[in-house]
Amino acid sequence: MNRKGILIVISGFSGAGKGTLMKKLTADYDNYALSISMTTRGPRDGEMNGREYFFVTKDEFEERIAQDGMIEYASYCGNYYGTPRAYVEEQLENGKDVILEIEIQGAHKVKEIYPQALLLFVMPPSAGELYRRLKGRGTETDEVIAKRMSRAVEESEGIDTYDYIVVNDKLEDCIAQINAIVGAAHNTPGCNEEFIDTIRKELKDLLKGE
Ligand code: 5GP
Repeated sequence: MNRKGILIVISGFSGAGKGTLMKKLTADYDNYALSISMTTRGPRDGEMNGREYFFVTKDEFEERIAQDGMIEYASYCGNYYGTPRAYVEEQLENGKDVILEIEIQGAHKVKEIYPQALLLFVMPPSAGELYRRLKGRGTETDEVIAKRMSRAVEESEGIDTYDYIVVNDKLEDCIAQINAIVGAAHNTPGCNEEFIDTIRKELKDLLKGE
């Protein structure tokens, strides 16, 4: 049976720890492929072009959109962020579970294009903890932190449009939960259409042969 890859969208408030989760998930399990987004925001200390993001200018980003090279894109706190199409399609074809770590508008666009996509929302254990994590990261100014907290208030209204929430309190537990959800998603009829059709056909053939 051909194992088809699932498209997994992971969203969550800025500071919820998505980056750390994704790094560990892809390091621990080889069924996952992480899509690298394109952005017009500048790199943070320690970020590398082609690893966390492809950092590009606004012109370069808009050119990619014009070439239909993005599955989706959105504007977030004054910058463009988008998912390059080619890598995602190629990895799904290879049977990988492709992770898109994107915000909520992008998540909704992906669900429109790929109705089978699995939408997960990463929650902090509490709002206070989210603020402490953002502040503790030490990479953003107070103004940017305030913008991201106010964006979190907006995004919290959309959580119920996701398929599952996972709480990122203990990293290991959160990873195990994500893995369990993805494992279960592989068993939905939508992810097994070919297999179901084969069984249907075999049943009919058997009946005819009787
Ligand atoms: P950050 O600047 O903290 O790396 O990311 C800001 C927000 O942009 C996060 O919520 C992140 O999930 C989202 N984001 C990153 N890449 C993409 C993308 O390709 N598309 C969309 N729609 N959002 C993205």
